[in-house]
Amino acid sequence: MLDYLDVIADIPSSAWALAERTRELLERRVISRIDELYESGEFPRDVIPELGSIGLLGAPLAQFGQASPLAWGLAMRELERVDSGLRSFASVQTCLAMEAIARFGSLAQQDEWLPRLARGEVIGCFALTEPGHGSDPAGMETRATRGANGTWRLNGHKRWATNGTIASVAIIWAQTAPESGSKGVRGFLVPANAPGFTARPLERKLSLRISASSELFLDNVELPESAMLPKATGLGAPLSCLNEARYSILWGAIGSAEACYTAAFEHVTKREQFGRPLAGFQMVQNDLVEMVDQISRSQLLAARLAQLKEEGRLRYQQLSLGKRHNVRAAQDVARRARALLGAEGILLDRIVMRHLCNLETLATYEGTEQIHTLVVGQDLTGLSAFR
Ligand SMILES: Cc1cc2nc3c(=O)[nH]c(=O)nc-3n(C[C@H](O)[C@H](O)[C@H](O)COP(=O)(O)OP(=O)(O)OC[C@H]3O[C@@H](n4cnc5c(N)ncnc54)[C@H](O)[C@@H]3O)c2cc1C
Repeated sequence: MLDYLDVIADIPSSAWALAERTRELLERRVISRIDELYESGEFPRDVIPELGSIGLLGAPLAQFGQASPLAWGLAMRELERVDSGLRSFASVQTCLAMEAIARFGSLAQQDEWLPRLARGEVIGCFALTEPGHGSDPAGMETRATRGANGTWRLNGHKRWATNGTIASVAIIWAQTAPESGSKGVRGFLVPANAPGFTARPLERKLSLRISASSELFLDNVELPESAMLPKATGLGAPLSCLNEARYSILWGAIGSAEACYTAAFEHVTKREQFGRPLAGFQMVQNDLVEMVDQISRSQLLAARLAQLKEEGRLRYQQLSLGKRHNVRAAQDVARRARALLGAEGILLDRIVMRHLCNLETLATYEGTEQIHTLVVGQDLTGLSAFR
């Protein structure tokens, strides 16, 4: 009943191969230890090369098979059904790090990094957010100034970069000074071993625990001219990558919601109170119906956005609507599932509390629910209500 309207069942078989390989890998290598990983706050790094070998990393890029929007979305759904941290890893590596290099990098930069990122031999991160600038990245304080001989010097502090401490290369977004001859926001490829670059883990998180969330410090990091992404001029460049990641989130959230529904359904059909199964009570059925309603709408929305994306007609405002809806829906499903499991629902091995905690991050990153509301509001009215 997870696919009440046959939205998923009607997806053509040609779109399934990547999702099936992803599910098989997760069943073989991750699912049995996800609770321990969550508890210890550790990413299963040993699986990264295998994510590469099944063709997942970079899959939507032209150089690596150009998986269709549906194929990529279904794979994201599989990852997030297990844990949002897995999907976050794959979407940062693919949609933020690799996408930025593929879209805005020189051929030399692409040759140097993309094949190794696709094989999972190296990891990338994407650092836009700063301690003082999250929803409003235009105010970023990280600075890139021209040094001698055309070199660049980077100074600043980035926060919340996913994969930061395990990355070999960081995409750093920085303001360039007008006197550098390159005004505005520019992107730089910073190798993790560059002198002056430090990555530190953000610890004691209660959400997205397996994800390597990090702080990055840039203290007079000197880079050659060739470290700058030549085609990324202005804030629109990183924002365009974020749109790709939002597409991954809106599919991933469905996987998380489906996992919670399944756990709740199994529980209420087995557990008896007052002499009969919980599933036989009207209010419990109301919860189940609300959950299926939310999941069905999310599936329909995702499938429609995939179609628009395939046709090259997807607008970023539509992505905002989709990310906003599907994350909210998944949160609602996870909350209901948590309650339906009663006390058992707070145990790690009953999965719903882990998903519920992870979904708090989904509602915040890649644009908060409020920011996406403002994006759609502006699209409807023509009036910006951001400030
Ligand atoms: C686990 C995790 C991983 C992340 N990974 C990355 C990453 O890889 N790279 C990266 O660059 N960033 C990353 N982020 C950062 C993320 O994108 C930001 O947290 C997000 O953009 C929100 O910024 P903020 O946290 O500074 O909140 P703020 O911008 O300070 O917002 C706080 C609250 O105020 C509200 N608000 C802000 N402005 C308005 C407004 N105009 N109108 C109404 N309400 C408003 C927001 O909706 C929110 O509720 C990650 C975050 C998390 C939690």
